[in-house]
Amino acid sequence: MPLIRIEHLSKSYDDTHALNDVSFVMESGRKTVILGPSGAGKTTLLRCIAGLETCESGKIFFDDEDVTAKSPAERKVAMIFQSAALFAHTKIKDNIAYGLYKLGYTKGEIETMVMRSAELLHISHLLERYPNMLSGGEKQRASIARAIVRKPSLLLLDEPFSSLDERLREELQAEMMRLQEEIGMTMISVTHDQQEAMNMADTVIFMKNGEIKASGAPEDLYLSPPNLDTAEFIGSPAVNVIHDDTALFARLKEFYHLKDEVRTIAIRPENFMFEEDENGIAEVTHIKPGYGNYEVRFRCLDQNLILLSRVPLSKGTRFRLCAFDANVMRFDEKGISL
Ligand code: ADP
Repeated sequence: MPLIRIEHLSKSYDDTHALNDVSFVMESGRKTVILGPSGAGKTTLLRCIAGLETCESGKIFFDDEDVTAKSPAERKVAMIFQSAALFAHTKIKDNIAYGLYKLGYTKGEIETMVMRSAELLHISHLLERYPNMLSGGEKQRASIARAIVRKPSLLLLDEPFSSLDERLREELQAEMMRLQEEIGMTMISVTHDQQEAMNMADTVIFMKNGEIKASGAPEDLYLSPPNLDTAEFIGSPAVNVIHDDTALFARLKEFYHLKDEVRTIAIRPENFMFEEDENGIAEVTHIKPGYGNYEVRFRCLDQNLILLSRVPLSKGTRFRLCAFDANVMRFDEKGISL
């Protein structure tokens, strides 16, 4: 199974740096999710790993083999795309078998492989159908069955579930986790959806502007992000960010005895503690009910912030608030965690 090593990969389109000196190492048999906003360079990185894109500089190794100049077929990776991409006039069983004939398998072997793959994806009953007779979720199951039919050691997924509704998406995410463990393959997926990253990753690689800004276990990136970009992207509702040119920052600087090098602080919405008080410095401006908690937007001195509350608060309610020192994230002028 490949241990993937990316060394100083760069790629530009005209004046856009899609990848800017990207390096990372990925252990085999792991689930890595490349997460980031649109335009971060995630798909370009995945396509470079697949061999579908050439890079200007840098190298890609599978185990210790330099595959930088190798074709996608030579790299032996399987890939799943956003849309199922099945052949319309071909039965599902033949869609799954596609590509196996020219690899020299016998008819009997192919039948067994297709059946096994279909069983793993719970689509055995759909093998005789054509793609237009399947739902969106079933089509994506069929394309996953095709991708894993040869038990690839490396599976790449490019926003594979983004066109599916939430329930189906979660079902297939769980399915992929099970398959990954069962087959033992290395899995790299790309998404802009942080929930998907949390659901499908041992390791998250967070990208922005063609660079890797952070990597690690999802909960580590959430609890102790190495920089402000990561703190801001991961978490919903988003973290409250308070910069040093605000009145609230000045107040908090005094309260928390912040050093001068601290230029920005960030507090997660669930980390505020509060108490109703008609003389409090915060005032509720908007409240959104959620499952098990309420999203409360409020004004505090010159800032609009957000907190999560178990109890409903009505608009206009004034309150006092604070957060434990350990829950106040501190960043320097470059946005690096202190
Ligand atoms: P992501 O997958 O994170 O949304 P991409 O890897 O698709 O980002 O793109 C990274 C940057 O490269 C973006 O600014 C995008 O517009 C640009 N880009 C990607 N593909 C091309 C292309 N074929 N031609 C020109 N620019 C491209």
